Amino acid sequence: MPIKPTFLNFLTCFIKGHQMEISHVVNDRINEMCCKKCGKEMTNNIYGDTVPMNDYYLRINESLSQLARRKRLRQKAA
Ligand SMILES: [Zn+2]
Repeated sequence: MPIKPTFLNFLTCFIKGHQMEISHVVNDRINEMCCKKCGKEMTNNIYGDTVPMNDYYLRINESLSQLARRKRLRQKAA
């Protein structure tokens, strides 16, 4: 479902806070979240903090997600 960010949505988020929804589970600690209202993307970093999504974290999450996938495959094979 595409989200159309509008100024009003940003304003609502600013006042009420974002309505975060998990959009992608990277591994057992890290999730990517997306605000249902304004589409703002956040992610957990390796320290467990919630940070705004950027290229840096996108690349880290991609690598972590690949690692997690490989780990799952290994566990299945064992
Ligand atoms: Zn929001």
